[in-house]
Amino acid sequence: MTQVFIMHFVCSETDKPFKVRFERENDSALFTIAKAKRTGKSSPGERFNKTGDTQSSFAVNEDELNFSGFFCPWCNHSGSQKKPSIFIECGRCKKNICGGNSGRIRFRCRSSCGHRGFMSGSFTSYMGSLRQDPESKHLAAPQEKLPHSGKGGTDLIIRD
Ligand SMILES: [Zn+2]
Ligand SMILES: [Zn+2]
Repeated sequence: MTQVFIMHFVCSETDKPFKVRFERENDSALFTIAKAKRTGKSSPGERFNKTGDTQSSFAVNEDELNFSGFFCPWCNHSGSQKKPSIFIECGRCKKNICGGNSGRIRFRCRSSCGHRGFMSGSFTSYMGSLRQDPESKHLAAPQEKLPHSGKGGTDLIIRD
């Protein structure tokens, strides 16, 4: 069953939230990015419990996540020579902030936080929410051909 790990971020340039969905097929595989998605309203209050997401309470070791393909869906930041950090955890608001406003050593948070500083340390684990996804296409059982097992009713009969 596919494991889905969701991490939450805020864009430093637009001050808007997004989430990144990682997936892996089993415990020994790396989580890789399945998609990055804007999460709309600028309220950082997380409210996707209806889809089974819980609060960001699950930690994944730093070496279990593959961030290749990461980008900020608001400002398109994906890391560059001048801005090598794809995201930074802000020491003040504790959010994962896209690196679009930061340089090699200086960090600048979104405007509603306003924190500035120098980068220090590195992640040893990442917080997010984990769930199993029984409906993932990856592991879905191969679809049988339509069962024409004599139940009738759905077949069209063309008559001359
Ligand atoms: Zn951004
Ligand atoms: Zn901040």
